[in-house]
Amino acid sequence: KFDVLVIGGGPAGASAAIYSARKGLNTGIVADRFGGQVADTLAIENFISIKATEGPKLVAQLEEHVKEYDVDVMHNQRAAALGYNNGYEITLENGAVLKAKSLVLATGARWREMNVPGEKEYRGHGVAYCPHCDGPLFKGKPVAVIGGGNSGIEAAIDLANIVQSVTVLEFADTLRADEVLIRKAKSMANITIIKSAQTTEVLGDGKKVTGLMYTDRVSGESKELELAGIFVQIGLIPNTEWLKDSDLELSKFGEILIDAKGATSLPGIYGAGDATNTPFKQIIIAMGSGATASLGAFDYLIRLSEE
Ligand code: FAD
Repeated sequence: KFDVLVIGGGPAGASAAIYSARKGLNTGIVADRFGGQVADTLAIENFISIKATEGPKLVAQLEEHVKEYDVDVMHNQRAAALGYNNGYEITLENGAVLKAKSLVLATGARWREMNVPGEKEYRGHGVAYCPHCDGPLFKGKPVAVIGGGNSGIEAAIDLANIVQSVTVLEFADTLRADEVLIRKAKSMANITIIKSAQTTEVLGDGKKVTGLMYTDRVSGESKELELAGIFVQIGLIPNTEWLKDSDLELSKFGEILIDAKGATSLPGIYGAGDATNTPFKQIIIAMGSGATASLGAFDYLIRLSEE
């Protein structure tokens, strides 16, 4: 039986495992894909103290750091269900059941994609999902933001300070963002908002994005925009589908609800990183929350009566 079983091997899970192992706790990690979203990232320039790195390099360093400790890393394994039977039980997709006194849930999230031709091909070559991460790459260039919800309009305002121009494309005939954000966006000279616009294709020259095609849903006309970058802001989906049948409290978006110590609604279960209701989703924040969750679990375990 593990003292702490971490589900997820992204920056949050890796950090949680190291913190927990350093407390002398019997620690395991179940990870579908070690490294998580970081493995898909090209340049990382906001991981403080390392001026610039690349996703796969940071993943290798994370793994090396975890291996310094006595952590049982179970690669390519997906958790399928959470249960309780004299301790927590995680059932894996392969049917195996792992038992633990406490859990850190750090299964991360994934960006909702447009699912149009060109999106996958140009991911990381003009198609971006994170303005905090990739905004500076498009300095002085024209970009589009797909999605007129809060994250889309926030991204447009953020990017407008860096890039040449921002065109926001919203599928519906109204913007879903807060009024104050819409007013701010409309006051910025280099932001254009186009509603009732359905993006149909990402255009590129074989190496990088050169524009996009969209359909004006009112006139039915197909139109083209010349762009260097496209920020897709149509939702970040937490990887928590496997928890839906459990008693764990999730937000209406499916995020694991946690408090300041990383504690969830169930005793001994902690959450960390992008899978939780933390308002900002970044590597450095995920690592911090992994540390918090493990220290929370440690606090819990030292108060647990011996079985
Ligand atoms: P994740 O990285 O999503 O890791 C989740 C882990 O859980 C993975 O190991 C996954 O395989 C595993 N998992 C999921 N479901 C299950 C399951 N059922 N059972 C077992 N394991 C499971 N942030 C920055 O700070 N700077 C950047 O420059 C930056 N660039 C980015 C670029 C891209 C293209 C993307 C997609 C994200 C970027 N981010 C960046 C965001 C950053 O990667 C995330 O905030 C961070 O990785 C979140 O860490 P996490 O550990 O919470 O989740």
